Amino acid sequence: TALLQGKFAVVTGAASKRGLGKATAKLFAEHGATVAILDLDEAAAREAAADLGPQHVGMACDVTDLEGVKKVFDALAARWGQIDILVNNAGITQPLKIMDIAPKNYDAVLDVNLRGTLYCSQAVIPHMRSRKEGKIVNLSSVSAQRGGGIFGGPHYSAAKAGVLGLTKAMARELAPDNVRVNAICPGFIATDITGGMLTPEKLEEIKLGIPMGRAGTADDVAGCALFLASDLSAYVTGSEVDVNGGSLIH
Ligand code: NAD
Repeated sequence: TALLQGKFAVVTGAASKRGLGKATAKLFAEHGATVAILDLDEAAAREAAADLGPQHVGMACDVTDLEGVKKVFDALAARWGQIDILVNNAGITQPLKIMDIAPKNYDAVLDVNLRGTLYCSQAVIPHMRSRKEGKIVNLSSVSAQRGGGIFGGPHYSAAKAGVLGLTKAMARELAPDNVRVNAICPGFIATDITGGMLTPEKLEEIKLGIPMGRAGTADDVAGCALFLASDLSAYVTGSEVDVNGGSLIH
């Protein structure tokens, strides 16, 4: 059955072909939602949206640019009349050690992952509040929980831990307005975020630490996002959901 029939969803950073955002946008569309794919490159965003069907929209949006973000969300609200779901998926990582984090590295990683999540949420919250309905899903990471994932440096762990704090604080503040906010903490998912640095040997080593014995897929994360964006999770807010094959059972 279609879990998002008649809903309108925005997914940031969803142009990446093998990415978590694209898989999420696709699953939402299959469940009846109309989806906007936002990403840095307009042509890539449009192409990704066209893949989902003609009613979906692809737009250029740098989530770190407050004015640009406001414009895009206002345009979508005007076009659709409502925005029901926001997935803050845009993210970047850098495999640096603590002493190698230069100011520009800190800015880049904190800005996209954390500032972008704040700005896009701020852009959509007034619409959601006025309708007393909304779901925000934020992409954190196992890196936030265990102090480093596989490719993320300490600044990435800090940014994703910041996303968890922001998620919980927003969930608390927005709960009276029936806006639910949750975070997904993916473990190791094979996407392009690793920037080609994943060797077959490294993959085998990673798998040894995963009780389920395999890397996650983008669809594994999309399924969790669908749960959090739909009424299946009607009483779930402020939670962090692990999607990691059991890597962090404690
Ligand atoms: P990806 O690199 O495939 O996709 C990320 C997308 O974000 C790209 O399309 C990129 O263009 C876009 N983007 C980057 N900066 C942007 C900006 N300023 N504004 C708008 N878009 C921007 O990555 P992915 O693996 O699909 O990751 C998606 C999310 O999941 C990220 O937040 C990532 O940190 C998180 N995550 C991924 C993994 C994993 O193992 N792949 C694990 C944990 C968390």
